[in-house]
This record gives sequence, structure tokens and C-alpha cells, in this order.
Amino acid sequence: MNKRKKRRIKITYVFGIFIVLLAIVAVVLYVGSSKVEKTVIKMQTVNDEYIAGQNSIGEMQSVSDYLTGKCRTFIITGDIQHAKDYFKEVQTDQRREKSLREVKRFDRTGTVYTLLMDALNESNTLMEIETYAMRLACEGYRIDPERISPLLTEVSLTAGDRALTAEEQLNKSRGMVFDDNYQETKATINNDIYGSLDVLLEKTRAEEIRNYHKVQHILFLENILLIGLLIVALAILIITALVVIRPMRRSTALIQNNQFLPVKGAAEYAYLAEAYNKMLETTRKHHESLSYEATHDALTGLYNRKYFDTVQSDLADENIAMIIVDIDYFKQINDTYGHEAGDDVLQKVSGVLASSFRSEDYVFRIGGDEFVVLMVQMTPALRHVIENKLNQVNDSLDAKGSLAASDGLPPVTLSMGVAFSSGGDPEVLFKEADQALYRSKGNGRRQYTFYNDIAKDLS
Ligand code: GH3
Ligand code: MG
Repeated sequence: MNKRKKRRIKITYVFGIFIVLLAIVAVVLYVGSSKVEKTVIKMQTVNDEYIAGQNSIGEMQSVSDYLTGKCRTFIITGDIQHAKDYFKEVQTDQRREKSLREVKRFDRTGTVYTLLMDALNESNTLMEIETYAMRLACEGYRIDPERISPLLTEVSLTAGDRALTAEEQLNKSRGMVFDDNYQETKATINNDIYGSLDVLLEKTRAEEIRNYHKVQHILFLENILLIGLLIVALAILIITALVVIRPMRRSTALIQNNQFLPVKGAAEYAYLAEAYNKMLETTRKHHESLSYEATHDALTGLYNRKYFDTVQSDLADENIAMIIVDIDYFKQINDTYGHEAGDDVLQKVSGVLASSFRSEDYVFRIGGDEFVVLMVQMTPALRHVIENKLNQVNDSLDAKGSLAASDGLPPVTLSMGVAFSSGGDPEVLFKEADQALYRSKGNGRRQYTFYNDIAKDLS
């Protein structure tokens, strides 16, 4: 029994474990979500950096083209404003250098930066050609280079170029910024710029894919965890329904019918069922003892007066014999030997009476030393059976009797009155038996009298 108890599911533990599980899942989900959030922010940053990188690279490209444009326009038109714009960009605005610095800020591996740096170097190489060409154009246009930029003044032309005519100088300077060498360097710059753009795009894509997979992985794990939790919750619901709710529902009908509960299911329910069963058993025993006390005489264990009234009216229609028994001179026994000895004698007489009659007959103690025997299915034709029994009872109890002195109690004799009934008023039957008893007492005691024998005298 105890071993079985240990194996029972404790629903409190099951719920405790579930709550812990819930807490763990909540923490994991929280950590997962914050990781997802961080990754999404990172993706946003990568995207922002890509846009910034693209802008910087674009700037490098457009400034490079801007310088080429300004230089060529000046050389072709002789409009010094273009040359001024050129040098303003080179000396003051410096947008190419700014772009490069911007790229360096976020280009951690440095590949994009290196390529752009190469482009800038190439662009600077081109600047030397352009500056020389513009200086030569100044000579051709007869423009003082100081009006444009000190950088231009610093350029010294070769003796051969100086000796050329103005027309030739202009032609040469135009050739320098349009020839194959110039175009090739320009193409190299463009290659570097486009190359850096490709690298930037590739890097961004790779990072985006990595982050996307990371988010996907976290979400997958979270989903698995949630599904697991749902399965556990479902299992707990089913277990609770089986080991708590079902036995409780069944108990309701059993409790209403005052029946014992099966000790099944969860430990908590089994404990309640056991406690209820114990209570029901105690209540039943209490009830039984109450009904025993209500129908039995406390001293002798025989049926009592109250129960006599019930049985008497129950058997009103039956063929019965009623025998009223009274101990002779019982008061003297009390007076001589004491009340306790008197009680013992009452118990002894009760025992003799109870054992002298059949189990279907009733033996009552209806008063102090007064008893009644109701013999069922008894008619006057069987009076000898009664006579034999009553003689035996008196024989066993008197001074010469088999029970005398064996227990140290004083001998007693009994007077008895017998009446038969075949249906009729129970009170009349009692009165008849009582009258017969009275006759026995009157005739000297230690005897029985049948009412039938004295009926004629009385009427
Ligand atoms: P009789 O032969 O006329 O019956 O004389 P008796 O002395 O027996 O007179 P009666 O039947 O009237 O006396 C009954 C006595 O039984 C009176 C009372 O003191 C005694 N008695 C009643 N109940 C008990 C009891 O429970 N225990 C004891 N020891 N005595 C009781
Ligand atoms: Mg008496």
C-alpha cells in the first residue's frame, strides 16, 4: 500500500515543474528576441553603411569627372573660371579626400578603402598631367597663371614647349588631356572605383545573408521551444484530467450515495479519498454503535425496553409466546451482597436466558429485575417445549443448580408468566403474561404460570 503511494503522481510537483519550465522558456524567448532585435539593428547599420559607401564612391567618381571636365573646358575655351573651379576643388573643397575618409570610417577590412585610395592616387597622377596641360594652355592663351592659382605658377614648362607657337601650345595641351595615355589612366580610375563598389556590394550581401540566417536560426529554435511547451502543457492537461478531474467527478456520485471512494489518481486526490474513507468508516461505526445503544441494555447486552415495544408491535400478527420473567426477592440480594453483586446476578440471569432460547427468539430486559422472552412461531400445542426450558433455567440458577456457587454469586430463582398470541392487541398479551407472573409470585415463586390455565379463574 505504502509502495503504491510512492508511485503516485503529485500534481503539485507537475505544476511546479511546468512553472519552472515556463520561466525558462520565457527567459530563452526574451534572450532570443533581444538577439533578433540586435541583429536587425545590425542589418540596418550594414544597409546604412552600404548607402554611405555608395554615396562616397559616387562622389569620388563624379569629382574625378568634374576635374576632367573643368580642365578640358578651360583648355578648349580659355575661360579661366573653369581653371579656377578646378583648383578650388583641388585645394579647398577636396571632396575626394573627404569621401575617402568617410569610407575608412566603416570599411573594417579595408578592401574598399584600398581600391578607392588607388583611384585617388591615379587621379592625382592625372592631375599632374592636367596641371601641366593647363599651364601650357595659359601660355597658348597668353594668360597669366597667377590669375588662376599659385599651383599653376609653380609649374615650369620644358624649353621645347616654351619655344612652340601659341597655336602649337594649345594643340599640345588639348592632346595631353584627350590622348590614349590620359584615357587609359581615366579608365584605371574608373576600374578602381567600380571595383570598390563591387567589393562593397559583395561584403554587404554576405553580411546580410549571415544576419538573415542568424535571425532564421533563432526564430526556428524559438518555434521548436514553443511547440515543445505546448506539447508539455497539453500533456499536463491530459494528466490532470485523468488523475484529478475524472476521479473527482466519479467521487461526487459515490459521496452522494454514502459509498467509499476508490483510492486512485494523483497523490493529493488519493490522500483526500483515503481521509474521506476513514471518516466514512468512523461515521458508520459511530452510527452502528448509536443504533446498538438505542436498542440494547447497557448492563446485560440484552435488547432493551424501547426495542421491546418495537418488536412487540412488529410481531403483533404472529403466533408468539410471551414470557415475563422476574427475579425473586432480588431486593434482598442487593441489600445482602451489595448492588454490584446484584448487577452480576442480573448479567448471569441474562446469560442463562439468552442461551436457553433459539436465535430467532428475542430476550429483553424491560426493567430492574424483569425480563421478557418473545418466542416466535409458538402455539399452545408446543407448551411443553416452554415448560422444559423454564424448568431448566430455574434448575440451573437455584441453590442446587449447576451454576450455583461456581462463580461465587448467590443462587436465585425466577417467577414467570406465559401467554400465547395468534394476532391481537400486544398490550393485552403483555397484560395476560403479567397476570400469569403475578400468579406465580402469589403461589410461592420459583415457578411459571400459563395464562391459559388461569384465564377461567380471572373472568
Ligand atoms: P419479588 O420477588 O416480589 O420480585 O421481590 P423483589 O425484591 O425482587 O422485588 P422487585 O422485583 O420489586 O425488586 C426489584 C429490585 O431490583 C429493586 C431495585 O433495587 C433492584 N434493581 C433495579 N434495577 C437494578 C439494577 O440495575 N441493578 C441492581 N443491582 N439492582 C436493581
Ligand atoms: Mg423481583
